[in-house]
Amino acid sequence: MPTRIALVAHDAKKDALVDWVVRNAPRLAKMEIVATGTTGGRISAALPELHVKALKSGPLGGDQQIGALIAEDQLDALIFFVDPLSPLPHDVDVKALTRLAIVYDLPLACSISTANAVLDHILR
Ligand code: PGA
Repeated sequence: MPTRIALVAHDAKKDALVDWVVRNAPRLAKMEIVATGTTGGRISAALPELHVKALKSGPLGGDQQIGALIAEDQLDALIFFVDPLSPLPHDVDVKALTRLAIVYDLPLACSISTANAVLDHILR
């Protein structure tokens, strides 16, 4: 069964996540990738050959869709590049998503260095 990974980035972090995906594309191409709507659209625009299932936009329920995947044991890792410097209208969704990742002990990376660690040492 392929590794299942979810990708989410807040607006100020989308460039960083797209760069990370481009750098790691050969490995990610072997995984099942889901993403929140806008993040998924940005990744697909940069790498049209990469298959990414885009869910709803985060503030419109995409974060909660990913939370449901965690609760149903459908994910192996969550890469969630959070913007820690801006107020977010869907802060409760952000908190709920990180909370579920912790509840289910799902590998969760919120920055480039931890995303590298998850990819190199946990997913392999
Ligand atoms: P987006 O959602 O990828 O649709 O922008 C991310 C988020 O803010 O949760």
